[in-house]
Amino acid sequence: MDADVIVLGLGGMGSAAAAHLATRGARVLGLERFTPAHAFGSSHGESRIIRMAYFEHAAYVPLLRRAYQLYDDLNREDPGLFVRTGGLMLGQPDSVTVAGSLGSARQWGLAHELLDAEQLRRRFPALRPEHDTVGLYEPTAGFVRPERTVLAHLARAKAAGAQLRYGEPALRWHADSAGVTVRTAHQEYRSEHLVVTAGAWSPRLLADLNLPLVVERQVLYWFRPSRAELFDAKVFPVFIWQDAAGLQLYGFPDLGDGTVKVSFFRHGTPTDPDTLDRDIHPEEIDVVRAALNQHVPAAAGDFVRGAACMYTTTPDQHFVIGRHPQQQRVIVAAGFSGHGFKFTPVVGEIIADLALQASTNHPIELFSPPRFGSAGPPP
Ligand SMILES: Cc1cc2nc3c(=O)[nH]c(=O)nc-3n(C[C@H](O)[C@H](O)[C@H](O)COP(=O)(O)OP(=O)(O)OC[C@H]3O[C@@H](n4cnc5c(N)ncnc54)[C@H](O)[C@@H]3O)c2cc1C
Repeated sequence: MDADVIVLGLGGMGSAAAAHLATRGARVLGLERFTPAHAFGSSHGESRIIRMAYFEHAAYVPLLRRAYQLYDDLNREDPGLFVRTGGLMLGQPDSVTVAGSLGSARQWGLAHELLDAEQLRRRFPALRPEHDTVGLYEPTAGFVRPERTVLAHLARAKAAGAQLRYGEPALRWHADSAGVTVRTAHQEYRSEHLVVTAGAWSPRLLADLNLPLVVERQVLYWFRPSRAELFDAKVFPVFIWQDAAGLQLYGFPDLGDGTVKVSFFRHGTPTDPDTLDRDIHPEEIDVVRAALNQHVPAAAGDFVRGAACMYTTTPDQHFVIGRHPQQQRVIVAAGFSGHGFKFTPVVGEIIADLALQASTNHPIELFSPPRFGSAGPPP
C-alpha cells in the first residue's frame, strides 16, 4: 500500500482532511491537479464569512462551535487568518436570513441583538435600510482567509508526514474488498481508504452516485468605497442582506487595501468546471452596483476587480458528507452549496473520524449521501 488514506483534491476540505488525518498518525497521500491554494476552484478570493446564528438550519450550530475552536487554533499560528468583525443578517423580519438566524440564535443561546432600521442607521451609517428592514447582529461573526486556511492545513499535513502531490490530476478510482486504487495522469496508487474532496469536479469523480449536484459560476466584486472610513473593519461588519424578492447581497469590510468585496449569495449560472468563464462582464458589474446603490450606496465607488468562483450545489443546499453508500472504504465530502468554507476544519475532523474510526460524534445526519435516493449501482 502507498498510503492509509488517499485524499483526492487538496482545496478547502481536502487540505483540512489531510491535516487531521496526518496529525492522527495516518499515512496520507494527497493528490491535487493544480498548485497549493490556487484560484481555479471554490476556495479563493481573500475572505469568507463565518457566523454561528445559522439561517440555513439550526443543526449546523454545533459544527460551527467546533469550527470556531479550530479556527481560533489556526489563528494562533497565523494571526489574522480569522477575524471577528461582527455580522449583520438583514432583511424583513420574516425573511429566511433574519428569521432563520434568530431561530438558531434562540435555540442555541447565541449572543445576538435585533436592531430596527433606525438603530441600524445610527450604528452602521454605511447602510441604507428601508423602514421595515431589521438586522440580527451577531458579535462573534466575521471572516476567515481561505487561501491562508488552505496553506495552514497543507503545512500541518506536511509537517505530520503527509505526501502531497501537486499538478497530478486523478483520472479514476476503483475500490473493492482488498483496497482502493487511484489512477492519476502519472501513475497508479493503492491505499486502504479514499477521501473524495474534489469540489466542483466531484460530480465527475462520483458519477456512480448520481448525486444531483449543480456546479454554478459565482462572481466576487471589489469596489473602492467613496467614504472609506465607513468600511473600516473596526466599525463595519460582514453582512448578508435579503431583499423583498429573496435575493441575498453580502459583503465584507475593507480588509486593509481600501476596497470592499461584495457578491450575491446563490444567484449563479450553471457551468462546467473546465470551461468556467473567468471574465467579469460590464452588465454583471452594473447589477451588483445597482444593489449597492440601493442598500450600501457609499460602497458603490469604482469597480476595482472581480473573480469567478464555483458553488457545487445540492437541491436542499445541505452538504454531502459521509461514507460512499456502496464502498465502505470511500468517504465523500462535496456539494457545499456556497456556504462550506467556514466549516473546513470541522469537516476535516469529520472526514478523519470516518476514515480512521467507524463513525463520528459530530452530527452529520443532514448530510447523508443517499438522501436523494438516486444512488446508482456500484462502480
Ligand atoms: C464566490 C464564493 C463565495 C463564497 N463565500 C463563502 C462564505 O462567505 N462563507 C462560506 O462558508 N463559504 C463560502 N463559499 C463556499 C466555500 O468557499 C466552498 O464551499 C468551499 O470552498 C468548497 O471547498 P471544496 O474543498 O469542496 O472545493 P475546492 O476548494 O475547490 O477543492 C477541490 C479541490 O479538488 C481539486 N481536484 C478536483 N478534481 C481533481 C482531480 N481529478 N485530481 C486532483 N485534484 C482534483 C481541485 O483542484 C481543488 O483544489 C463561497 C464560495 C464561492 C465560490
